Amino acid sequence: MKLSIVPGDITATHADAIVNAANSTLLGGGGVDGAIHRRGGKRILAECRRLRETELPDGLPAGRAVATTAGDLPARWVIHTVGPVWAKTIDKSDTLASCYRESLRVARELGARTVAFPAISAGVYGWPMDDAARIAVETSHAMADEVGDVVEEVLFVPFGDRAEAAFRAALEHLT
Ligand code: ADP
Repeated sequence: MKLSIVPGDITATHADAIVNAANSTLLGGGGVDGAIHRRGGKRILAECRRLRETELPDGLPAGRAVATTAGDLPARWVIHTVGPVWAKTIDKSDTLASCYRESLRVARELGARTVAFPAISAGVYGWPMDDAARIAVETSHAMADEVGDVVEEVLFVPFGDRAEAAFRAALEHLT
């Protein structure tokens, strides 16, 4: 399973599945979530609403992932995951790692060969970028045995120079 860095806007990224840093309501928000719903059109929100009415009445908990159509986006699917809100006094690293693990498991079930991730939790949710990038890269790398029979490539999509530097450093430090 190859790990790559493709900086820019994830809504323009060509991958079978793109991951959304959603919030637990699944009904839209700011940041990358807002961009995905804006560019992907109404079908994504319609499927999110259906999920809320059926299997997820209380919303999607942090660390879990669920797929919908990608609507008008170049991707086939959007995998929605909810990152933890960063907190100074509580270590929620395993919840953030779970976002990557669960998203990759969903991707494998879908048959997605390429999966693109934004820097989950590193925006409004306040996770320090270097640490967010390290968790993203290490956790995805560790999933190769489990999902690599289907998922051929994981694309990290840093938004901005600071994020790009963090992801490049994290990839270099991978042992
Ligand atoms: P969270 O609430 O999980 O922190 P945000 O959407 O606020 O999610 O931010 C997550 C990361 O996504 C941030 O690094 C932000 O800069 C980045 N981001 C925002 N818009 C886009 C986009 N269109 N494509 C890729 N990344 C984006």
